[in-house]
Amino acid sequence: MTLFIILLGAIMGSFGNVCIYRIPRKESITYPPSHCPRCNARLSGIDLIPILSFLVLRGRCRYCKEAISVRYLIVEIIMAIGFGVLWSISMGIGEGLWLIINFFIFVVLAVIDLECMLLPNKLTLTGIVIGLVFAGFGLGPGLKGALLGGAAGFFVLALIRVVSRGKMGGGDVKLLTYIGTLVGPWQVFFVLFFSALLGVLVNIPLLAFQRRNLQGESIPFGPYMIILGMIFMIYGDVIVDFLSKYFLL
Ligand SMILES: [Zn+2]
Repeated sequence: MTLFIILLGAIMGSFGNVCIYRIPRKESITYPPSHCPRCNARLSGIDLIPILSFLVLRGRCRYCKEAISVRYLIVEIIMAIGFGVLWSISMGIGEGLWLIINFFIFVVLAVIDLECMLLPNKLTLTGIVIGLVFAGFGLGPGLKGALLGGAAGFFVLALIRVVSRGKMGGGDVKLLTYIGTLVGPWQVFFVLFFSALLGVLVNIPLLAFQRRNLQGESIPFGPYMIILGMIFMIYGDVIVDFLSKYFLL
């Protein structure tokens, strides 16, 4: 079963790459079929096998030899490994599906945010609906927790957006709303706090290295919220227990 899920992850990684390319360009994700963006050659058969075709073709279009971004390979590998790991640590099919479906949306969102500084509504709003539907079946924080979590995520970031005069993007507000439906009304604040901390810890050395400073830079914040969101979906209760035990929260 796990092997099947890993294969499914690789295939979904390939589909995720299509989403990453097309959604920010407002193209349909189902039509036309995959083609090389440079020479327009339609891809078929061997060109579409996830991971392997990239390796066999050594990262180039078979027809025009245009280099294909290594991002395609990385996304397929991350999806394959992520699906396999999440499925094997999940308890039951419901939780397994909850984890891998949201992981898929998370990876697509994170890569689009890194490449385009954009968190498309199509993905965040779909995520909110998916989070609520799963919660209706008792997954994550349950329906009440998901509604409150979504509301908490929305209001805290909407407030920060107003106070910061729009420095926080509207997409970030919808993303934290989505994450709130997955982790509930208390943990969503932990997600926000730790993702801001992680963002600062990563970006200060990065910007220093590039001889820029944090002030006045726009940094994609989505990927940090996504990493913390995923961690709290799995270990949220353990982390909160630990923190309340040792820091008397
Ligand atoms: Zn080509």
